[in-house]
Amino acid sequence: MIIAVDFDGTIVEHEYPKIGKPIPFAIETLLKLQQEGHTLIMWSVREGKLLQEAVDYCAKKGLKFYAANKNHPEEDRATAGRKLTSDMFIDDRNVGGLPSWGTIYHIIQAMERGETSFDRVLMSPGSDQRIIRRKRNFFIRLGEMFERNGY
Ligand SMILES: [Mg+2]
Repeated sequence: MIIAVDFDGTIVEHEYPKIGKPIPFAIETLLKLQQEGHTLIMWSVREGKLLQEAVDYCAKKGLKFYAANKNHPEEDRATAGRKLTSDMFIDDRNVGGLPSWGTIYHIIQAMERGETSFDRVLMSPGSDQRIIRRKRNFFIRLGEMFERNGY
């Protein structure tokens, strides 16, 4: 897949125009996706020097994007169509906000398998949501046990 990835608020915390603190597992997950054959494009409001700073930040951590703010390294944005031809966007302004990077990886894997229902993916084994639910259930059960035993 061609995956367009936002920078501020997605790879690092939103401190634009400064570079914020790293968001846990963003770089690691993107490297893994790249190893698995996905093409990553940085898609950011940053331009010029600020865009280069974001690209350099990632490169220093070993993550080299195929292109930044364009479909191909050679694309001339002045004449190219406005639309980015990516299959997916990872952006903190997604509906529902930015999931954890573990969940993002899980969703992409599920989509690769042909699953398209986002809700189903979130509820499938291994997703953070499922783990949160399980943890909550544990505490509810614990509370019920305490109640039963008169604590
Ligand atoms: Mg953002």
